[in-house]
Amino acid sequence: MTTRKSPSKKQRALEILQRLKHLYPDATCSLNYSTPVQLLVATILSAQCTDERVNKVTPALFGRFPDAASLANADLEELENLVRSTGFYRNKAKNIQAACRMIATEFDSVVPNQMEQLLKLPGVARKTANVVLAHAYGINAGVTVDTHVKRLSQRLGLTKHAEPIKIEQDLMKLLPQPDWENWSIRLIYHGRAICKARSPACSACELADLCPTSDK
Ligand code: SF4
Repeated sequence: MTTRKSPSKKQRALEILQRLKHLYPDATCSLNYSTPVQLLVATILSAQCTDERVNKVTPALFGRFPDAASLANADLEELENLVRSTGFYRNKAKNIQAACRMIATEFDSVVPNQMEQLLKLPGVARKTANVVLAHAYGINAGVTVDTHVKRLSQRLGLTKHAEPIKIEQDLMKLLPQPDWENWSIRLIYHGRAICKARSPACSACELADLCPTSDK
């Protein structure tokens, strides 16, 4: 009698990655922006908010304050009003302004392209820094762990952790570095379309045979 060896966690992760690439070949960052500063600002606004809502706010915001210098010198109350509908607007406006002031004064008005420097900016943690590095500069410095990536990586049995930093470390060990952002972007698509927070559609999921929590 022959017994079939079950795939290792790494093998499963790589197979999931290939299927996600096939399922969502054109997946990309869904925030609208024209410059690295605008991407940074949009990503700060996307905390606890949908990208769709952020994209409704940013045309007026970037129309009025298009770059780091104008955001750094903006009237704070006006800035708050422009970002109000994204939630936590006082904190977000304060962080956006403080980050833009630091970019203007310490980084020659250019968003830094190194993780260590990005993390010095107010309101910027690894998630935001990873998005900016990947989409503004094409640098895979880490794996972006948002609410979808966290939930799906847990359900797919690729991490047992709850803290984003530990989930990111687990995923970085399992996935090839050039695909770190590919993973996050496509997992976000899958989380929105199929593996939703309240009711995962396992019967329609192309990853079900690789997923230990599938109810298919
Ligand atoms: S099988 Fe179900 S739980 Fe697993 S990834 Fe698919 S939708 Fe999510």
